[in-house]
Amino acid sequence: APTRRKLIAGNWKMNKTLSEALALVRELKGPAAALPADRVEVAVAPPFVSLAAVAKELEGSALKLAGQNCHWEASGAFTGEVSAPMLKDVGCAYVILGHSERRQYFGETDETVNKRIRAVLAAGMTPIVCVGETLAEREAGRTKDVVEQQVLGALKGYQAAEVANFVLAYEPVWAIGTGRTATSAQAQEVHRALREQLGRLFDVGTAERVRIQYGGSVKPDNAAELLGQPDVDGALVGGASLKAGDFAGILKGA
Ligand code: PEP
Repeated sequence: APTRRKLIAGNWKMNKTLSEALALVRELKGPAAALPADRVEVAVAPPFVSLAAVAKELEGSALKLAGQNCHWEASGAFTGEVSAPMLKDVGCAYVILGHSERRQYFGETDETVNKRIRAVLAAGMTPIVCVGETLAEREAGRTKDVVEQQVLGALKGYQAAEVANFVLAYEPVWAIGTGRTATSAQAQEVHRALREQLGRLFDVGTAERVRIQYGGSVKPDNAAELLGQPDVDGALVGGASLKAGDFAGILKGA
């Protein structure tokens, strides 16, 4: 099996002013540089308004930049939106798509995630496609069905060669921002199921290349255990990415 480079990404959500954002990335450069680059990749997703300045601060550093979302059109009359070419232009390598908060509060669907992926690829970036079940869905035994349906909808129409470079993020909704982390066994079980689904939809070689991050209350004290699972290829970190010490602690776990 190919060794997948782990991707640890900090999703800052709607946090940090420009000066706070710059202060945080200054503190993260050292810990990020200390990692073996061939084994672990690190990215941060600040709010759009800070991206350009953060990119400048990160020049020459190993830390990569991600957008938290983008529109599916390249430009046009879409007040308040940001396009994939704009994110590429300011230095983003990744774009988070379909985050549960986008789905829950902003009407994101598998169909719109599917369209946004096309824009991200056309701009030469890599999508981080988020999926995950709610607590009610897990308790009803529907976890696999739900995440597989989300993957099917998001990836419909894409070629194996494109998908091989995608990043999936398994983020159980009940674990996001709640302090309630999935056990490493629960995470591994879903990651394994997703990889098997990718094998059926595309081929085993493609499935083995796709990186699947875990997200949901990842902290310094649970990161190593989660990241030690065979199908957990990184972490998407919310709350604990807002403090340099916490994020650096998670990086150590990789
Ligand atoms: C997230 O929103 O991507 C996330 C995982 O948040 P937290 O780490 O705060 O649970």
